[in-house]
This record gives sequence, structure tokens and C-alpha cells, in this order.
Amino acid sequence: MSDTPQPVRGTRDLIGAEQRGFAHVVDTARRVASTYGFDEWMTPIFEETRVFARSLGETSDVVAKEMYTFADRGGDSLTLRPEGTAAICRALVTNGLTQSLPQRVFYAGPMFRYERPQKGRYRQFHQIGAELIGPPEPLADAEAIALARDILAALGIAGETTLELNTLGDAESRAAWRTALVGYFNDFRDRLSEDSRLRLERNPLRILDSKAPEDRALLADAPLIGASLSDAAQAFWDGLRRGLDRFGVQYVHNPRIVRGLDYYVNTAFEFTTDRLGAQGTVLAGGRYDGLVAQMGGPAVPAIGWAGGIERLAMLAGEPPAIAATVSVIPVGEAAEAAAIGVLQALRGAGLRAEMGYRGNLKRRMERANRIEATHAVIIGEDELERGVARVRDLRGGEQQDLALNSVAAHLAAR
Ligand code: ATP
Ligand code: MG
Repeated sequence: MSDTPQPVRGTRDLIGAEQRGFAHVVDTARRVASTYGFDEWMTPIFEETRVFARSLGETSDVVAKEMYTFADRGGDSLTLRPEGTAAICRALVTNGLTQSLPQRVFYAGPMFRYERPQKGRYRQFHQIGAELIGPPEPLADAEAIALARDILAALGIAGETTLELNTLGDAESRAAWRTALVGYFNDFRDRLSEDSRLRLERNPLRILDSKAPEDRALLADAPLIGASLSDAAQAFWDGLRRGLDRFGVQYVHNPRIVRGLDYYVNTAFEFTTDRLGAQGTVLAGGRYDGLVAQMGGPAVPAIGWAGGIERLAMLAGEPPAIAATVSVIPVGEAAEAAAIGVLQALRGAGLRAEMGYRGNLKRRMERANRIEATHAVIIGEDELERGVARVRDLRGGEQQDLALNSVAAHLAAR
């Protein structure tokens, strides 16, 4: 270990263009979500452990091996949130909002999972997410998915992603499917990973989401939910696909999608890309009708999704350029007061402007070039006497003298 502190494994500093790329994803998603009537909520970064432990499923990867759980100084078990949905449902209940439905909720922020770090997979990562809480109709699922599609489109990456869609059925269908899965995997007990042998007892569906190669080899022939769908679940599935058609959302049916968390019913989906290697899922979600009740509220149906900002930003590529900068350059002490006047007028007009604190004209011009300033506003003794500034276009090279109090308006008009 070296002497200088390093960022914790799986965490990263976001600086410059990288942070701009992040902000662009969040700003875009927030704007599009607002056009769908979604309002932003912000819940705490940590919660009581039970908010996540039971709801996500004790055999899910997240709860079994990825949570940052610790006892605080008062001895309470707390967990850094590994995802947003359970906390939003907790907030819905604790703020008494189960009586004001529907709620259309957007959120963005850091999440924490103890994972093996690799490209597109970190221990602190960031998600945008949307929850449509209240409506039981499959049309709500279609609308939530349409929102996701429109966010991807606004980021310019709708064409790079595929919507993969599946149904997980309702409780009745799941019970039948579970029996079929147990029958199938029992025949291959010895070939399952240790984790999945445990899952076989406790939650056989989880095996379908396993990342262990020995499990994956068995998945191809595992029974699918389709054969076990109840009439109600079949009707929901038909309704979902009809709704997507109405919203003009294209999808492919992938009967192997199960999702990693326990609370999903009926709808499950992922937007995937082949441009990010193994970490190809950029946004994923489903319906979670039982979760609000698990937080101590009434039975409130809901549908939602979360997108990984790291992956979305990688896919979206170059962030928008930063605004042009004006460099204000006083030459000599006497010019400083006038320069600060111009500097603040530029900022007041909404322009990005800066002034170096020291150095001769040459040094300051070099600095202006280094920050790729579009204009330099130079105020020397001679200019000061005449009440003007020399405004130089640093790309074209032409310059003109302008009255000190007209510089900001002149540059803002360009
Ligand atoms: P994966 O199968 O990749 O582990 P997941 O099923 O655990 O994903 P979700 O809990 O559905 O993922 O989270 C939604 C999205 O958040 C993912 O599709 C992905 O884009 C992003 N995401 C999840 N975990 C991470 C992580 N550790 N680092 C970066 N992004 C992540
Ligand atoms: Mg995961």
C-alpha cells in the first residue's frame, strides 16, 4: 500500500468530460421524465437493513453477497442502498402517500454493491430510475417502458439498444413454474453451483439469473414460464404487448429474462446493447406489485425500472461541449477594478468568464489559449484612460475597442 490515499476499489472520481457525460444523462432523463408527469424524489443513501434484505430476496445476489451492511455507533444495522425501488416504496409508506395514487417518481443517485469491479461494473455506481406506483393495468407497464425508450432516444442511443421483454407470470403461474423448475434442476443437482443448490431449496427461479458458468450450461433446456401461465397472467402479457404497440415501442420476446431481485411479477424487461461487452444491460425493470405491502403499506401495485448511468454515459459517448469562455485580462494594477466590473457584467449576462490573478500580458494570453477561450478582453492603462476594453476574437484574430460598459452586451449578443 502506498502512502497517498487511493479511491476505494470499485469507486471512481468523475472529473471533466466524464462528469459532464454523467450530468448529461441525468439532465436528459429528468427532462424527459418530467414530460411524462414524473416528479423527482430523493431518499437517503442508507436505510435500515431490513428495507432491502427481505424485499430484494435473501437468495438474490444483491442481498446474499453484495450489500454494504454495517452497524452504526448506536448498534443499528444499516445498509448503503444497493438500488432505489425498495427505498422509494418505504418512502411512499412512511410519508403517507399510499392514499395519493398514482405517484410518478423519478430518481437519480449513487448505489452501492460489493461486486467484482470491471468495465461497466463498480462498487459505487449510479442509477436513474422511474417508478409508476398505483395502476394495476398493463398499460402502465407500457408507458413506463415508453418513458425509458424516449430517454434512450433523447440520448441518441435508442438505435444501439434492444428491448428484451418477458413475463414472469403471477403468483399462480409462478407456483406451477417453480414446480417445473425444481423437477428439472433436481435431475442435475450435482452439476449446479453450490449457490444454486441452495437456491434450489429456497428460490429456484434465482438459478435462472445465475452468472456461474456451470449453472448457465443447464439453462438452455430449463422449462420456461410460458407453459405455466395462468389465464390472468396470459391476459396481462397480451395487454402489455398491445400497450407497447400503442406507444410505438419495439421489443423482442426473450423468455429467459428473469431479473435479479425477488419482487418482480408479470412484466420483466431489459434494454441491452452489444456495444459494452459483458456489461450489456443498460436499463432494466419490471412490475413489483407486492413491494409496498412488504414495507408495511397496503397492497399497491407498481411498475418501474433503473438504468446504469455509467453504461448509459459510455454508450452516449461525447458529452455536450462546455460553453465558450471569455478571458478578462487586466494589465497593471489600476485596470483591475474595471476588469472585475466587466467580468461580473459578463457573468450577469450568462456568459462563462474568468480572470487570472497574476502574470504579464503574455502569460495571461497563454492561459486564455489553454482554456480555449473564444475571446480575450484586455484592459491596459491606455484603454482604461479611454474607458474602453480591447476585445480580441481568439479564433479569428480580429480585435476592436469597446466601451467598458458595452462589452458584456456585445459578447452576449454573439
Ligand atoms: P447485472 O446483471 O449487470 O448485475 P442487475 O440485474 O444486478 O445487473 P439491476 O439491479 O437491474 O441490475 O440494475 C439496473 C441497472 O443498473 C443495470 O442494468 C446496470 O445498467 C446498472 N448496474 C447494476 N449494477 C451495476 C454495477 N455494479 N455497476 C454499474 N452499473 C450497474
Ligand atoms: Mg447485479
